[in-house]
Amino acid sequence: MSAARAPIPIAPAGGVKKEPTFDWFTTKKDEIVGWARKFSLFPYPFVTACCGMEFMSVSSTIYDTDRFGAALPRFTPRQSDLLMVVGTISHKQAPVLARIYAQMCEPKWVLAFGACATSGGFYDNYAVVQGVDKIIPVDMYVPGCPPRPEMVIDAIMKLQDKIAGQHHVILKGEF
Ligand code: SF4
Repeated sequence: MSAARAPIPIAPAGGVKKEPTFDWFTTKKDEIVGWARKFSLFPYPFVTACCGMEFMSVSSTIYDTDRFGAALPRFTPRQSDLLMVVGTISHKQAPVLARIYAQMCEPKWVLAFGACATSGGFYDNYAVVQGVDKIIPVDMYVPGCPPRPEMVIDAIMKLQDKIAGQHHVILKGEF
C-alpha cells in the first residue's frame, strides 16, 4: 500500500509575495550598477577646434582623468559611452555628430566642452550650430573659451554624480 501523498500548496490569490531579500537586491541594483558605470567612462572626443588643446591638457598626466575612471579615449563610438563635443560645430558637421551619437552604445552621456559646443560661442552666424543640444541631448555643459582643465574635471565629477543617481536597466522586465 502506498503512503498518502502530501497536499500540493496552492498559491494565494494575488500572487506570491516577494521575499524581503529580493526587494533589497532590487533596491541596491541601481546603486551597484551606477557605481560601476560612473567609474568606467569611455570618452569619445569629437574634437573640431581650439578647445582640443584644452582636451589634451586635461588628458595629460598633470590633471590625470584616470583618477576618475575616464582616461581611455576610444576613437570608435561603438566602444564609447561619453561623447565629448570639443569645439565649434558647423551645420555641415552636424549630421556627422548626430550619426556618431546614434552609433554609441547605451547608456550614453554627452558633455559639451567649451563655449562653442555649449552655445555657439562668439560665432553667432549662419554657419555655426548655436549649441550642440540643438542636435543631440547634452548631460553636462562646460563654459569657458577655452574651459580650464579644473572646470572639465568638475563637470566629469558632476556627471558621475548624475550617473550614480540614475535608474540603470540591465535586464528587461522585473526581476
Ligand atoms: S570655446 Fe573658444 S577655445 Fe573652445 S573652440 Fe570655441 S573659440 Fe576655440
